[in-house]
Amino acid sequence: MTSSDDLVLDASHLDVELDFPRSMEEMLLPDLYVGLEIDLLSPGDGIVTNRHHASSDRYEADDPQNQIEGQISPFTLSGWLRHGCEQVLQIAGATACHPGEANADYMREGVYQRDLDSGYHEKGSCLDDHNDGCVVYDLFGGFGDQPGKLLRRPVSFSPIRRNVDVLKGEAEAHYRQVSSQVRSRNDEDGGKPLRQADRDVLGNVEGTWKLTLRDLKPEFVGLLLEAVSFLDVHSDEFTFQLGGARNFGAGIADVWVLNPLYAENEVRRVFNRAQATTSAMEEKDEVWASECRPAFVRALQARVAARNADVPISDDSESIVGGGSA
Ligand SMILES: [Zn+2]
Repeated sequence: MTSSDDLVLDASHLDVELDFPRSMEEMLLPDLYVGLEIDLLSPGDGIVTNRHHASSDRYEADDPQNQIEGQISPFTLSGWLRHGCEQVLQIAGATACHPGEANADYMREGVYQRDLDSGYHEKGSCLDDHNDGCVVYDLFGGFGDQPGKLLRRPVSFSPIRRNVDVLKGEAEAHYRQVSSQVRSRNDEDGGKPLRQADRDVLGNVEGTWKLTLRDLKPEFVGLLLEAVSFLDVHSDEFTFQLGGARNFGAGIADVWVLNPLYAENEVRRVFNRAQATTSAMEEKDEVWASECRPAFVRALQARVAARNADVPISDDSESIVGGGSA
């Protein structure tokens, strides 16, 4: 268990001077809130719901009166976020840690080698020349004794807005189990159903995913900021949609990192339709975009450059992936 009291933004291991205009006490760190807006989500590994609490004999899966609450799996979310982080490193000119082990039982032959040829290094091979490995290995963890530094919680959801606390990483969302009948196309079958497919989906997901850094290295913050920007800009590309049913428009996620300079009531305000942005929030947005965010991106560049001498650290530290504001 880490206490936020002894967490400091320490850049001493990086070969770069970093000047943070605000102290840790003025930031929500080590927590980072990822804002989520997803019209339709069909998580590949399913949704945990509380529906067994409903009286089972009267439960109708498609009854709009159902007030089903539950959780979105952190595994689906984590894989999607890690993929975004890998892309950031590749765009920066480095290779990313492969998420799988080299000797794993892959369903396709030669797939690991093909990945290594297209921007990945073998998982954990980065430990050879840097104690902590590459920044993705360091952040997400690796073999046995490398637990990772990022706590990725499930997102709890409820269809009832007043039950949703965005400071706990919760979202408003509406659960349905969708059944579709696949019917025969042959005249002689008279359109009889051949099979039924059931799928768990969530509609109109709106809220936060709460991430917590157990170790507050500034390059971790830079990597997460850049990855979330990348995923937002590329949200409707098949590879970067979240979960399943991607050809049906599921998993197109509008995402952003909520300004870490916000106070807790300001985070709540972002999701309160009755309240507009205050001028204090606008001022924090300006400080964040012009001074804080570039410092974190610069820390990421310095960490990547420590392993790859030919990766540049830009003076103005613009976004590596372009786009996104937060
Ligand atoms: Zn690595």
